[in-house]
Amino acid sequence: MSVAVQPDIVGVVAQHVDLRRSGDIYVGLCPFHAERTPSFFVFPGRQRWRCFGGCGISGDVSDFIARIKPEPNRCPARTNPPLERGV
Ligand SMILES: [Zn+2]
Repeated sequence: MSVAVQPDIVGVVAQHVDLRRSGDIYVGLCPFHAERTPSFFVFPGRQRWRCFGGCGISGDVSDFIARIKPEPNRCPARTNPPLERGV
């Protein structure tokens, strides 16, 4: 197996989004904004995804992974939770 080959976009997205197949594409709730009507589309043929909802963003597997996993360093609120020290 080659490590250089990118993972299948459907497999990657399906780990974070409940995808439903619709013909040749997959549809699910956008993980990048709150919505009730699925407007997040995955195109296996092109190996790309796109949000037709509030985000209007699109990308490939790398873009999805980068967006779904924000770097901890950029989120100090999470790395430094309020601690009660009994003071
Ligand atoms: Zn969206």
